[in-house]
Amino acid sequence: MDVSCEHARPSWPTIPPWRSPGGTHLYLGRQYRLKVVPHVQAGVKLTRGFIVVQTHRPNSSEVTRELVDPWYRERAHVKFAERTEHNLTIFPDPEAFRPRGLIVRQIKQRWGSMSPAGRLLLSRRLIEAPVDTIDYVITHELCHIAEPNHGAAFYELLDRVLPDWQHRKQRLERIMRLTHSDPSHNSRRRDCGRTHRQTGL
Ligand SMILES: [Zn+2]
Repeated sequence: MDVSCEHARPSWPTIPPWRSPGGTHLYLGRQYRLKVVPHVQAGVKLTRGFIVVQTHRPNSSEVTRELVDPWYRERAHVKFAERTEHNLTIFPDPEAFRPRGLIVRQIKQRWGSMSPAGRLLLSRRLIEAPVDTIDYVITHELCHIAEPNHGAAFYELLDRVLPDWQHRKQRLERIMRLTHSDPSHNSRRRDCGRTHRQTGL
């Protein structure tokens, strides 16, 4: 069963982070420039405004991409798990809202969903958004553990645990639209996917 979701549809085009317009790359709401340096040991790290890619083939954009993409995915897993733990603490009974798994995938139809079995699915691209807006998406989905639909009880719960959620939602939409503007993409609402779809996810 899918239900309509406030934060359903990211408004960005599917531009991989290593090809962002202007040469900058978003991570937790901040812009970083990519610096590719020759090095015998391949790796990626964040330092002072740069995503530094160490590679023995600095002239290969393909190799750079193959290093940056898993780095983003890894960071998304770590940060989303950390933020989920943090956000659980704002619920009156945290253990009752603990998801039974976290899945991070490259999806563009939605920011996240909660399966009936309690598995939290988040868009990998959400790692580009500011932490307080990531917290909004996670908290919204955690509320679905108790309230599957977007009825009055759902919003009562969301209002109680995250009173400024509307502000965060607007900030998320504004920031990500600005940084990934593309006239071919609009922000029409789509189902949030209370349940994981069996295909394409
Ligand atoms: Zn929802």
